[in-house]
Amino acid sequence: MEKTLSDFIAQAGRIVAFTGAGISTESGIPDYRSPGGIWSKMEPIQFQDFVASEEVRLEDWRRRLIMIDQFRTAKPASGHLALARLFEDGKLQAVITQNIDGLHARSGIPEDRIIELHGNGTYATCLDCGRRHEMDWAREIIGKDAHAPRCLACGGLVKAAVINFGQAMPERELVRAQQMTITADLFLAIGSSLQVYPAAGLVPLAKEHGVRILIANREPTPLDPYADCVFLGEIGSIFRCVLEGAQS
Ligand code: NAD
Ligand code: ZN
Repeated sequence: MEKTLSDFIAQAGRIVAFTGAGISTESGIPDYRSPGGIWSKMEPIQFQDFVASEEVRLEDWRRRLIMIDQFRTAKPASGHLALARLFEDGKLQAVITQNIDGLHARSGIPEDRIIELHGNGTYATCLDCGRRHEMDWAREIIGKDAHAPRCLACGGLVKAAVINFGQAMPERELVRAQQMTITADLFLAIGSSLQVYPAAGLVPLAKEHGVRILIANREPTPLDPYADCVFLGEIGSIFRCVLEGAQS
């Protein structure tokens, strides 16, 4: 008999979830690669161009300020809520996310259990000294002075606290994500096209360490052959069983 998601979850004691933009589309935040997704509308901004050009910085800020408004009005969707429920049940050890929208934290998962591989788009940091700055402050500066904000402490460039293309992945987060992955007994990849490395490399790593792998996504991914089971469909319906506490 074919195993259901509830069967896999019932047998697991240490679940680690790995989430991509697909878990947030039901919250109204577009993903990158689906039709109508962000990459079908605009080119990504490279980190070195942000550093080199004021014009590019202002364009990056224009996009980030649109995103923060989206993030603030969005509410955690069923995928986020299902993971929060698995955390409450003591099964979920950590969420490793490529998302920058802050919705896992808002669903009630403690911040120390969330590993953000691509940073966080709900605030900004100084590229030189790391000091945190708020998005509303940046919006005010841009509105008033029409230049990209500079650090209040050291005058360095301030950028949304996300990893742009061409910027290195935070080493500490990646190492922690790898440790959590290899000590899990069930690795749930949810709503990711599994095309962005090194993040997607967690799937083969889990496999090497004998961790069970489930992939839940609307479309097949190149890493489906690694999975013990692939659940193809909408995240809301795949995870409904967790929210209903049902056995099917
Ligand atoms: P992606 O766009 O490459 O893949 C998303 C996947 O989710 C696609 O395969 C799509 O078919 C699937 N999907 C979308 N909605 C779904 C739904 N309701 N049910 C089931 N499947 C669904 O996104 P990714 O793999 O996260 O790629 C990488 C980059 O996108 C990351 O760097 C991340 O930082 C960035 N990003 C983040 C957000 C966010 O924070 N919400 C939004 C867009 C992009
Ligand atoms: Zn600074």
